[in-house]
Amino acid sequence: MNKIRNFCIIAHIDHGKSTLADRLLEYTKTVEGKDLQAQVLDNMDLERERGITIKSHAIQMEYMYKGEKYILNLIDTPGHVDFSYEVSRSIAACEGALLIVDAAQGIQAQTISNLYMAIDNDLEIIPILNKIDLPSAMPEEVEDQIIELLGVKKEEIIRASGKTGEGVYDILDAIIERIPAPEGDPEAPLQALIFDSVFNSFRGIIAYFKVVNGSLRKGDLVKFINTGKEYDADEVGVLKLNMSPRDEVQCGDVGYIISGIKTSKEVKVGDTITHVKNPANKAIAGFEEVKPMVFAGVYPIDSEDFEDLRSSLEKLQLNDASLTFQPESSVALGFGFRCGFLGLLHMEIIQERLDREFNMDVITTVPNVSYIVHDKKGNKKEVHNPAGLPDPTLIDYIEEPYIRASVITSTTYIGPIMTLCLGKRGILIKQEYISGDRVEIIYDIPLGEIVIDFYDKLKSISKGYASFDYHMHDYRESKLAKLDILLNGESVDALSTLTHVDNAVTFGRRMCEKLKELIPRQQFDIAIQAAIGAKIIARETIKAVRKDVTAKCYGGDISRKRKLLEKQKEGKKRMKQVGNVEVPQKAFLAVLKLD
Ligand code: GDP
Ligand code: MG
Repeated sequence: MNKIRNFCIIAHIDHGKSTLADRLLEYTKTVEGKDLQAQVLDNMDLERERGITIKSHAIQMEYMYKGEKYILNLIDTPGHVDFSYEVSRSIAACEGALLIVDAAQGIQAQTISNLYMAIDNDLEIIPILNKIDLPSAMPEEVEDQIIELLGVKKEEIIRASGKTGEGVYDILDAIIERIPAPEGDPEAPLQALIFDSVFNSFRGIIAYFKVVNGSLRKGDLVKFINTGKEYDADEVGVLKLNMSPRDEVQCGDVGYIISGIKTSKEVKVGDTITHVKNPANKAIAGFEEVKPMVFAGVYPIDSEDFEDLRSSLEKLQLNDASLTFQPESSVALGFGFRCGFLGLLHMEIIQERLDREFNMDVITTVPNVSYIVHDKKGNKKEVHNPAGLPDPTLIDYIEEPYIRASVITSTTYIGPIMTLCLGKRGILIKQEYISGDRVEIIYDIPLGEIVIDFYDKLKSISKGYASFDYHMHDYRESKLAKLDILLNGESVDALSTLTHVDNAVTFGRRMCEKLKELIPRQQFDIAIQAAIGAKIIARETIKAVRKDVTAKCYGGDISRKRKLLEKQKEGKKRMKQVGNVEVPQKAFLAVLKLD
């Protein structure tokens, strides 16, 4: 056990975690030859295409140090703020962390937030100055930032490049020298902490765990403490590039178990596995339950797919503990689910995964945050959908969630960033110089404003030189009004939003204009109206078309005609009939696209 090291890699997005992980796998000969493709651990197609890590990945390596063989368990983590719950879970399975800082970018918002998480979990931190090969690298300056942030000595910082391989052996040595071996008692009753799980269509449900005390053998009868369910450990093993079965997984190890788990509800990330005979008397303190902050309706395009959608969401939830869902119905869209996400990127990823992994075509509606509604009788309730708001005359006041946001940027962009935050109803809390011309600005902002288009705007006004991180802060009373959209006089519940009363009229107008662009012309006029209560505050009309699009082809060119028809069909895929109007998916997300 003193030959085991469990560590994770934390960094701001794009600072080179996955690339450095590749080098570690290569230099320890864990992955060789044909398997050596870039970012090996990002094995979801979606991760590879987008070049981002969504899931944490665990892999075991072996490394010879001073003539002795060590086992290194690496857990790669995502960097985007929406996925920080993945980081927090990985951290719980480790004793150390490689903190990577891009030598050209310096310390960024998620460098700091991930670092705090690692410190809170008492991890040994090895600072690494990465991308040292870049001509734009500023090693001295960024080293100073690291020294200031961590209070370490200059000599403790390892200069490295995931591209050239410089410094990789130094990192491997430092992992062994500086990160403590896992503690824990190999003789004590088994306690293994589940930190992730996944559904595999061939193998069923697989749970990943770290053995904190005791050990687990193939064939053992085990119990999941929180759910109380018992299983035979049909297969246990460690995580190499693929799963690698073992007779025993020992104290301190990271491993997996396949045990005839039937439904996703049985595996709770954060649960503890123990033996049925000689059980541990208590569970390990698990993780904080993540609380989704952004909600949206997810509806099958074809209403017959409702049950399939439910089972797909259940399977996805297994691999993504932060996803929540509850059945709901919409007059416009039929039966679907209200899903909770950690942010917009998360929502987008879930929609993509439903499509790719489960072949589910869905419509997602305008996202909103969760509100606390206080009625005049003194009751309060949490509302996840503007359509579920009680009658306005019964409402005393509404509270909305505020986040505390940290933006790190250079002084050049402070002006425009402050204007942006102010426009989003932000309140400046403080402004602090980090080093040189780098500033950290802290704002309290309603989450509902961030959800819409804050991140893209921030990126564009700062030309990418601003990083952003946030955490939930509190709920505050706000003057919010429900804005309804009517199509040909019929209110479309899936398009309702809550907006601040001061912005309601402008907002309603922009919604109508945008919907006019997004809803295709049909064979009759379509009136688009925005209303608050009974009061119409904006209106647009989509004029009718009465043209056969294939008429242009003069009958001669059959293949062209067919192509046109197919194109039309394709366009229909993500459409929903609302009353007599066909509304495309894009329109349900119009609010995200207002300029
Ligand atoms: P992650 O988001 O932290 O996992 O970062 P990635 O490993 O995906 O790397 C982000 C980008 O930086 C990719 O385009 C990499 O090719 C590039 N990159 C990573 N490490 C280095 C390095 O040491 N030097 C240079 N020049 N580029 C690097
Ligand atoms: Mg990555």
